[in-house]
Amino acid sequence: MRTKQFKSESKKLMDMMINSIYTHKEIFLRELISNASDALDKLYFKSLTDNSVGIAPEDFEIRLEIDKENRTLKICDNGIGMTEEELDNNLGTIAKSGSFDFKKENEKKENVDIIGQFGVGFYSAFMVSDCVTVETKAFGSDTAYRWKSTGASGYTVEPCEKESVGTEITLVIKPSTEDENYDEFLDQYRISNLVKKYSDYIRHPIKMAFTTKQPVEGKENQYEDIVEDRTLNSMIPLWKKAKGDITDEDYNNFYKEKFYDYTNPARVIHTKTEGQATYNALMFIPERPPFDYYTKEYEKGLQLYSKGVLIMDKCADLLPDYFSFVKGLVDSEDLSLNISREMLQHDAQLKLIAKTLEKKIKSELEKMLKDNREAYEKFFKAFGIQLKFGVYNDYGMHKDTLKDLLLFRSSKEGKYVTLKEYVAQMPEGQQSIYYACGETDEKIDILPQADTVKEKGYSFLYLTENVDEFALKVIGEYEGKKLVNICDNDFNLDTDEEKKELEIKNELAKDMFEEMKKALGENVNAVRYTGKLKSHPVCLTSEGGISLEMEKVLNSMPNAEQNQIKAQLVLEINSQHPIAEKLEKLYKEDKDTLAKYTKLLYGEACLIGGKSLPDALEHSNLVCELMTK
Ligand code: ADP
Repeated sequence: MRTKQFKSESKKLMDMMINSIYTHKEIFLRELISNASDALDKLYFKSLTDNSVGIAPEDFEIRLEIDKENRTLKICDNGIGMTEEELDNNLGTIAKSGSFDFKKENEKKENVDIIGQFGVGFYSAFMVSDCVTVETKAFGSDTAYRWKSTGASGYTVEPCEKESVGTEITLVIKPSTEDENYDEFLDQYRISNLVKKYSDYIRHPIKMAFTTKQPVEGKENQYEDIVEDRTLNSMIPLWKKAKGDITDEDYNNFYKEKFYDYTNPARVIHTKTEGQATYNALMFIPERPPFDYYTKEYEKGLQLYSKGVLIMDKCADLLPDYFSFVKGLVDSEDLSLNISREMLQHDAQLKLIAKTLEKKIKSELEKMLKDNREAYEKFFKAFGIQLKFGVYNDYGMHKDTLKDLLLFRSSKEGKYVTLKEYVAQMPEGQQSIYYACGETDEKIDILPQADTVKEKGYSFLYLTENVDEFALKVIGEYEGKKLVNICDNDFNLDTDEEKKELEIKNELAKDMFEEMKKALGENVNAVRYTGKLKSHPVCLTSEGGISLEMEKVLNSMPNAEQNQIKAQLVLEINSQHPIAEKLEKLYKEDKDTLAKYTKLLYGEACLIGGKSLPDALEHSNLVCELMTK
């Protein structure tokens, strides 16, 4: 017999399970049944190509056995079984190792989270049992093995007697305590209810021998034990049931179990389609992103079934990237059972299904936006970025699909609005849709241009995510209204007359601005007067396609160091501000001081615009010089 230690992470997880305060300990049963069902599926797949399997499909089963006296609950299957090595690999360490790294980062959270979020599978047995034994014989192997563990101290593996291929898991159920009732897991009715609740759709029969007392015929007051086999699950996959027969709880349980989430989905999409493509689809919009959603590790896709049999776990071709958060499955009559991955990619039927699913998801999101604004805003906070990337990616190919699903915070009351709502609220005279970029709403609010827009009675959209401005640039215009960054050089709310007046002023001060530009060198493209500032002396704007915010984003990308991108900046000076007069005076009398003041003003504009100072030391020295004058 070999005695082994659990890998260290597993040991910690085991400790957690053993001392679990998780209130849904009952989920251990669905975890073990799912494993058994997977093992049956695996052997079933094998049987399609391998005649030596020797089990008829209808003979696959999961069997539950209760022994009250010895306090044991057994979960048996005649599935694929495990070899000695597989026992070690599968039950000696945590299969989903990523889950544990995540746990470490979130150490402070209750242990409730990890159990719910990852469905820790086999280990959950230790929530209800002090001693777990696994006897298993792998398909194609002569020897059977017994794995046994009484907790975090380790486990043993030894050969054992087992005639048929498959796995038998025996749990010695913990004694009940004052606070915890474990006896319920030895009650046949309780167990059969749990099967109904969590595992009803499992497509293999889950059987249990029921013992009932029946009156003995012809003999009054005499009873005998009758034992009969019952199948506890209906075996009808949830998605094949009529919608009217499914409760919200059914959907929620199904989702949580199948997709390892611990919160109910934000929206359930259940559709049956007949015609060009015949399929059932059951999809879910999660309430929040899985922990790895915004990483490379996340794999999008829907489970693909052919006539009720799983043929692919994550069929990526069924979902566009911008809807990658959708979880769920598709069951189609039209797909062949042993179609290969490569062939699937070119399958016209699959493409057709994907297309109709996309439309369906979009229309469900639109419905949600319309009839449950609060839920939609929550959804958008979780997955809006993905939609915005969807607008931007593929050269804007999908912008029309997605633009009405976007939300932005508006400076009017700080509420979320769609572009449509923004346009509908535009006061008469407002020509364009305005937006402003910055790290936070507060930082955007201090932009001089923000005041200008607000004073006019207009509102603008706050863009605080890196992708925001790129997405809006791709959209370009909405309902004939141009999308304009209020920090762009050509943003202007002046009347024609005011514009003319300013032009003359700029023309007259041309030489002074040349002189000032010299002081700033490469930092700016030009210096000029503006009429767009009310009380503020200066601001920075950009010309050409790249804004200050885009400059920041592009330069922070990997590999951006070699070719830094520069926005074409213009230092704009408020022609109505006393500083304008001062500058003109200095230009005539003291060019040296003019240069210093220009640098100071540029520094100020940078600070307000959220750009770092090109030379902070020089700026500070200049301020001190001025203070001590
Ligand atoms: P998961 O099922 O999420 O991979 P588990 O901890 O529940 O994680 O199980 C680990 C692995 O052990 C499974 O992936 C499977 O390979 C194996 N296993 C568990 N139960 C059985 C079983 N009844 N028959 C065959 N293999 C099993």
